[in-house]
Amino acid sequence: MKKQKFTLHTHTRGFDGRSTPAQMIKQAKSLGFEAIGFSNHFIIHPEIYFTNFYPVALARGYDRIYNYNFREAINKFVPHYSKLEHIAGLEKDIKILRGLEVDFFPSAEWEKDFKRAIKILQPDYVIGAVHFVEYKGQLRNVHDIARAETKDQNVMLKKYWEKLGDAAESGLFTWLAHPDLPKKLNLGMNYIDWHPYEMTAKNKIKASQTPIEFNTSLKDNRMTTVNAHRSDIPLLISDDAHSANQIGRDFDLARNEIEKANLTKNLLSLEKILEIADKRR
Ligand SMILES: [Zn+2]
Ligand SMILES: [Zn+2]
Repeated sequence: MKKQKFTLHTHTRGFDGRSTPAQMIKQAKSLGFEAIGFSNHFIIHPEIYFTNFYPVALARGYDRIYNYNFREAINKFVPHYSKLEHIAGLEKDIKILRGLEVDFFPSAEWEKDFKRAIKILQPDYVIGAVHFVEYKGQLRNVHDIARAETKDQNVMLKKYWEKLGDAAESGLFTWLAHPDLPKKLNLGMNYIDWHPYEMTAKNKIKASQTPIEFNTSLKDNRMTTVNAHRSDIPLLISDDAHSANQIGRDFDLARNEIEKANLTKNLLSLEKILEIADKRR
């Protein structure tokens, strides 16, 4: 298995990234990458504007990633995708792909609308993510969890792992983003109630053969999910770049850790990832 020369989990200006697609592509080419995919956030929830984090997003200028309904989200992605398609037509040296980082909100209605959105947008691949849990009638993100009291944190972490397992089981996603997201903020390190829920999620990931990513934006604890399994879960490396200079960050380090864990055989090629995306459409 050769070095991973592509990046598929990235964000751009106009959503919550800081660089334009052109700047990101230039950087990817300078690293000798064969492909770059853009996966801006696709977050749709009717309560999204009534959360604690929405005013923060508004103040920091990344409120564009939140949508009240699917129409609003689709209206942002149609021009974004057609711009990418235009650039792809001009680029000869690198493959340009169109992805989504989708927040999973399991309900019959969400799933129906989501499938219709996929038919309209025709992305090359779809990353499933859990950035939010519903708790006491409100959507909470990891920062909300971090600010909560321990007993509430515990419940929310259980919900996080439940949702991640359900996302895997849904079969809707090409792979799952940053399974260890709560550990980015060192959440849940001092209590263990949620461990069985993490195990259940891992079992569902394994049973559904949903690939997971080694996300190099998470500084520590990146390999916990992967190591616990040691086998049989397909893997890819993601930089989750929000600016051009983050493209390919720590890919060598990730590669080393994956080698050390004896998981190199689990690394997916670009062809294989796109094949999985096609099958799960
Ligand atoms: Zn994410
Ligand atoms: Zn991301």
